[in-house]
Amino acid sequence: MRVFSGSLATETNTFGPMPTGMASFKDRGYYPAGTHPDHLFYFAGPLWAARKRGAEKGWDLVEGLVAGAQPSGTTTRQTYEALRDELLEDLRKALPVDMVVLGLHGAMVADGYDDCEGDLLTRVRHLVGPDIVVGAELDPHSHLTPAMVDNADLLIAYKEYPHTDVLERAYEVVDLCAAMVEKRIRPVAAMVDCEMIVTMHTSRNPARAFVDRIQSMEGKDGVLSISIAHGFAWGDVPEMGTKVLVYTDGNADAANKLARQLADELIGMREALAVRYPAIDEALDEALGFDGGPVIISDGADNPGGGAASDSTFILRRMIERGVGNVALGPIWDPVAVRIAFEAGEGARLPLRVGGKIGPLSGEPLDLDCTVKALRHELVQTGLSNAPTAMGDCALIEYSGIEIVLCTLRNQAMGTDLFTGLGCDLAAKKIIVVKSSQHFYASFSKVSKHVIYAAAPGAVTLDLTTLPYRKIRHPKWPLRT
Ligand SMILES: [Zn+2]
Repeated sequence: MRVFSGSLATETNTFGPMPTGMASFKDRGYYPAGTHPDHLFYFAGPLWAARKRGAEKGWDLVEGLVAGAQPSGTTTRQTYEALRDELLEDLRKALPVDMVVLGLHGAMVADGYDDCEGDLLTRVRHLVGPDIVVGAELDPHSHLTPAMVDNADLLIAYKEYPHTDVLERAYEVVDLCAAMVEKRIRPVAAMVDCEMIVTMHTSRNPARAFVDRIQSMEGKDGVLSISIAHGFAWGDVPEMGTKVLVYTDGNADAANKLARQLADELIGMREALAVRYPAIDEALDEALGFDGGPVIISDGADNPGGGAASDSTFILRRMIERGVGNVALGPIWDPVAVRIAFEAGEGARLPLRVGGKIGPLSGEPLDLDCTVKALRHELVQTGLSNAPTAMGDCALIEYSGIEIVLCTLRNQAMGTDLFTGLGCDLAAKKIIVVKSSQHFYASFSKVSKHVIYAAAPGAVTLDLTTLPYRKIRHPKWPLRT
């Protein structure tokens, strides 16, 4: 079997303050054909799974471009077209192949392209023809458009949020596509739009039980795969929203019926799925009132994983004003402050201007008379599904009992080693503030018993009613037209 794999992925926040260009891909991960490293890169699950499976089964695997960017604002047309065409050219050179398995996101938007993955899959289909198997792995924060579903034989989204199952789902993509090539199965898709946008934290019910149940349905009664696209509310495109995608083995009626049934169940539980978001002061009161610690406060509105700058100071400022200490906070993306901290050296005490630099949603910068506690070149934190995640040069600074991780590569808090790698004793803290919406949970829940999702200002604001949508289709619960 001759297999082609590659990857092109980012999650575009069309309200984000910075464009996504080539540097955003080169910072996070840009591997031209044949240069993917010897570990799982977060967006390249199918390539990694095909490499492992192919070694067992003697496949001839051709590895094309793998490129993934930290989420930001709309991708520039030049960058999207250049990367798309590089991947398509890699595929063209690899032909003939029996199957194509891609690592995509599903919510990439570029100038002139509301549906990058639909455009890419359409071109892939055109290149390989109707008979070659095309599959892809998606992030559940995907817009899951008809163009994507129509031009792929199989699409599978991660089930977990935090996304801890990248590799498991990638193996499913690879194994089911291989079964298709061998004519052992014939997937038939059904997709239902729930006409809503929800957050599904699988760390708690009802999402936990729902995901466990749909997973238990797979592999029985002709059900091959079930994916829930939660949707990505910060992408203003017509197809934004929560959707259900079911593949059965050759039975369209059964696929349609099950997709409709599961969509109705999700619609029925949408109020219960909603996350409680107290305002900053309320979140601080709750954390300080909690017996024991540490308490995690998620600053999801400034999550770089959703396209925010990751340098907002709203929560930090309020903690300083209230005299809240014994805190760890991070990561704040501030290459200038890191540069100055490195110049000063470990142990130095100096005035440092921290955060608040990118735009109005970053708040005001804070001038802190701080101590440089630790400096690390090229810090790597343990990311989702154990994918190593580079943070660049990092500094741990301390001001008035608040230890702050400053980084030079924009990325959200996912592993506790982001802090402990700089000598920050997380377990001893009363409060840990993370720039992350939910991916922090897998690792940080091991050091904390209580999590608060705070509502601060930011490009990933949790109050969707404040977003100036122009393109989304209605109805879209809970949004009004
Ligand atoms: Zn996601």
